[in-house]
Amino acid sequence: MQLHKTIHKTNPPILSPNLSEYEDIRSNFEWSSIEKELDWLPNGGLNIAYEAIDRHCLKGNSNKIAMIWEGKNGEKEQYTFEEMRIHTNKFANVLKNLGLNKGDRVFTFLDRTPEIYFSVFGTLKAGCITGPLFSAFGPDPVRDRLENSGAKVLITQPDLREKIKDILHELPELKHVIIINKNNRSELPLNYGEINYHEVMNEADNEFDEISTTRDDYSIMHYTSGTTGKPKGAFHRHNAAIQHYITGKWCLDLHPDDIYWCTADPGWVTGTSYGMCAPWINGVTQVIYEGGFSARKWYQIIQDYNVTVWYTAPTAIRMLMKAGNEVPKNFDLSQIRFCASVGEPLNPEAVEWSKEFLGLAFHDNWWQTETGAIMISNFQFMDIKPGSMGKPLPGIFPGIVDDEGNEVSDGHRGQLAVRPGWPSMFQGYWNDKERYDSRFKNGWYITGDEAIRDKDGYYWFVGRSDDVINTAGHLVGPFEVESALIEHPAVAEAGVIGKPDPIAMEVVKAFVSLKEGFESNDKLRRELMAFARNKLSAGVAPREIEIIETLPKTRSGKIMRRLLKARELGLPEGDTSTLEDD
Ligand code: AMP
Repeated sequence: MQLHKTIHKTNPPILSPNLSEYEDIRSNFEWSSIEKELDWLPNGGLNIAYEAIDRHCLKGNSNKIAMIWEGKNGEKEQYTFEEMRIHTNKFANVLKNLGLNKGDRVFTFLDRTPEIYFSVFGTLKAGCITGPLFSAFGPDPVRDRLENSGAKVLITQPDLREKIKDILHELPELKHVIIINKNNRSELPLNYGEINYHEVMNEADNEFDEISTTRDDYSIMHYTSGTTGKPKGAFHRHNAAIQHYITGKWCLDLHPDDIYWCTADPGWVTGTSYGMCAPWINGVTQVIYEGGFSARKWYQIIQDYNVTVWYTAPTAIRMLMKAGNEVPKNFDLSQIRFCASVGEPLNPEAVEWSKEFLGLAFHDNWWQTETGAIMISNFQFMDIKPGSMGKPLPGIFPGIVDDEGNEVSDGHRGQLAVRPGWPSMFQGYWNDKERYDSRFKNGWYITGDEAIRDKDGYYWFVGRSDDVINTAGHLVGPFEVESALIEHPAVAEAGVIGKPDPIAMEVVKAFVSLKEGFESNDKLRRELMAFARNKLSAGVAPREIEIIETLPKTRSGKIMRRLLKARELGLPEGDTSTLEDD
């Protein structure tokens, strides 16, 4: 590790886009030619960590900076590819010494510190499956994920361990808890049986020569929300490296000298595919900022580290817009040459705003946890149609289909679907084959989104085709929130919807009815808000709770969220023939 040195600015170079002959490349595209741009393991296998780190060291880039990190308390660290190689080798050895085997699940529950990157890539080198969790999670989401995945190892930090200490004994398959006390930030002691990360890393060997994964071995899993049931663990293969690489190159237009910043947390798939894999597989230096959103701080990061390529989310862009047009004028943002956004619809006003204040249009792209990498994109070379998600990545074949899985014509709304078989496609939901199978129809993978393709081949997002809520780019399953609320002794029933919001797109709103003997009042409402926040996390818990007499239900007893939403928004109630009689 070296301390960060000041980088002196030069004018941003004019670079030609990595992808320009789109139609030609698309019609003659073969994944096999992209595969040749990766190095592959000496034994013919494939490993994301090897492609992201080791291969750059073997090609004379050992001393290139891979990670520039700024901590939430202002700490600054940076790591070369060689330092990354050693830290990740060491962590792979730690797991090996603990007796872990290929395919074992290893989860992180950490703030965005360098150690999360060492742990994730070390886990991949060891052939285990990595599952990064948001550090904002409360105990319930952590327990659900560790339990469902049967995780053997959890890597966490003292303050977060405190938050979840009561659920750890509920996880019989969890064998080891590794504690990282970054820069001695915490004074909390280790508990009996916990492993001190710093100690075992010190003792571990610098070399790890046993990477033995193939392209088909599982690599990363992320839990994502559906309409019903608890979140599902979508898992991917090392094969995803191929698509991480080419989307980094074509959709984010990464060039070797770029300084890249992705604002997503590794708890979200964007934070692993594009906050870890894609930039490093492309050998690019990336900035990681541990802190949360602040308009001034974000502009400062871009200025101080000379960020040239920036990948963020529409909610963040709207928050920057809200912070005012004067703020960016105080910073030198002239080094940025490309910026992209994902996670929610990017409204045309945000594109216009960025043109004015950054001198660049945000390029929207579309993908989801299950797709593992970008599928539809506004590429650097092409004309943006503000509000559109762009065109398919070469090698990806999306379509707009009806409920039977038949394609509808251009200009008509339908389900956004994709022909299966792309390299980063998810391989299943952990322990839930039925649900995985239900995502395919008539030879299509059905994404759960509705969209329109126009006559020029651009895709336009219309909305979700289910009850899943998109708040600030994060999917929240109503069931998860309802389950947490009904654990409160006062709550009889809960129904959760997404309420439109000008900044976060939607916020979570809950309706609850009370059990006999409880009185509806503001104190109880506030208590329920705090209860949900504690169990879930601030991002997932309801922003609003309304206590009502009874919830509308079908005759079979299912809460009609659709009706709750229509009533909330003052919209027509639609078909209520299945509504339970009052
Ligand atoms: P996640 O799996 O959490 O990454 O969420 C994926 C979902 O976010 C998609 O299925 C969409 O509903 C939404 N989403 C992602 N990118 C876009 C985009 N560019 N425009 C509109 N919605 C998007």
